[in-house]
Amino acid sequence: MPAAPASPASKGLLFVVSAPSGAGKTSLVAALLERDPALTLSVSYTTRARRPGEVDGKHYHFVDRARFEQMVAEGAFIEYARVFDNAYGTAESSLRETLERGQDLLLEIDWQGARQVRERFPEAVSIFIAPPSLAALEERLRGRGQDSDAVIGERMAKARDELSHWGEYAYLVVNDRFAQALGDLDAIVKAERLRTPRQAAREQARLRAMLDG
Ligand code: 5GP
Repeated sequence: MPAAPASPASKGLLFVVSAPSGAGKTSLVAALLERDPALTLSVSYTTRARRPGEVDGKHYHFVDRARFEQMVAEGAFIEYARVFDNAYGTAESSLRETLERGQDLLLEIDWQGARQVRERFPEAVSIFIAPPSLAALEERLRGRGQDSDAVIGERMAKARDELSHWGEYAYLVVNDRFAQALGDLDAIVKAERLRTPRQAAREQARLRAMLDG
């Protein structure tokens, strides 16, 4: 039997998920992680202020601007971007460590970061989550709190900007019905795990026994 295809199959898979804010990405990703304990969520660094309920080291590593800039200068980030006047970045060391352990990792980042990750890791699996309509998006943004119309208008403009990048992703999930969108995300993760080069690493002995026996 020929050797298994050369592959980084012993490494974890890298998933990148982007969406306009209000598309339901955070809830979908949280539900996906609950359903799939083999998936780990990357914890980004950010300069934005902590929101109520957010825990340092769990939701983000909250750092000040000086520390963030220092990390940029040190080349600590595999990608970083400015979103809504704040800076966000993914540390390269923890990303590599997780993947080397064979753990699948999911990055919840914006289109600018997704683009940088695709350049550095062409094997990354990118997924875009879109809302069913702009009206639904606005409703979700308004439902969040007491933001003024001006703030909502600004968020909608940013959301449309993010939305315009949907075509750069390998997969597109429309979050019209939550359960359906969650099922779609789950299917993408499972299908990627079943690709032959990855299966070869796990199932080579079985296949060899059947063919060489
Ligand atoms: P929020 O401040 O609402 O948590 O996130 C705002 C935006 O920043 C979201 O689109 C989120 O995906 C993005 N984001 C969060 N972490 C990162 C990161 O490490 N890198 C990049 N490029 N974007 C991020």
